[in-house]
Amino acid sequence: MKRRILVSNDDGIYSPGIAALARVASRFGEVRIIAPDVEQSSMSAAITSSRPLRYRHTVLPGGFEAYRVNGTPSDCVALGVHQWSHVDIVLSGINLGPNLGSACWHSGTLAAAKQAALFGVRGIAFSTAVNLQEQDPDFASLEPFVEQVLKQLLDEPSMCLVNVNVPEKPKGIRWTHQAVKKYDGEIVSGKDPYQRPIFWFTVKPLEAEEEGTDRWAFARQFVSITPLRLDLTDEKELARILALPRAEDWVTPRVKRARRTSAKSRSKKQR
Ligand code: MN
Repeated sequence: MKRRILVSNDDGIYSPGIAALARVASRFGEVRIIAPDVEQSSMSAAITSSRPLRYRHTVLPGGFEAYRVNGTPSDCVALGVHQWSHVDIVLSGINLGPNLGSACWHSGTLAAAKQAALFGVRGIAFSTAVNLQEQDPDFASLEPFVEQVLKQLLDEPSMCLVNVNVPEKPKGIRWTHQAVKKYDGEIVSGKDPYQRPIFWFTVKPLEAEEEGTDRWAFARQFVSITPLRLDLTDEKELARILALPRAEDWVTPRVKRARRTSAKSRSKKQR
């Protein structure tokens, strides 16, 4: 059976980025597009729970089977996975704007891939740079890199969630970490035409990227590929607190059993 690839995004179904991603994806399997009917950027993993969802067939260039949804990126992926009998992989993007470092928390593009992973389907998010003149990216020149990355990632089935960022003029590809040490979110205040205060949640430029991170690679015109996971547990902190004697009352039975076993094996060794 041909590989079934669901393509979504957060920029909306009419974005040139989703058409580019669908074109590349169609070289690897059967493509179906399901995406928001209007832009849903920065919606993260929001779902629509207080009104019904609907989807409509949409004619797109390239002849892809496409549907627009009155919902968020996560809604689209949920609906797509539910309505198509078997989905092998979900691709999201190509977003107009990078999704790097801590900014990933807000990304609807990445959230669509994450929604797939929550359902047990592999999810890969693609984003690219936009310039200040707001010209569309030159997708034709980016497509060979997207194809190369996709080809590689399809051979790595254990990577359930992957974040890919493609710079304007890629000169190579790098495996990276998510840059988490700095956050670019910022509130900027101003005035509306009636002189009332208004506020923008915007981004400030960050400098001094750490080597090996997604921001570092992207700033040097490398495509960054970051494998992500759904488990947000801080393992180091949890291990540290469990090692303290005062944690005794709050530990789970499983930890208690593990402690008894390790204490027994220690005393055996001493004997
Ligand atoms: Mn977007």
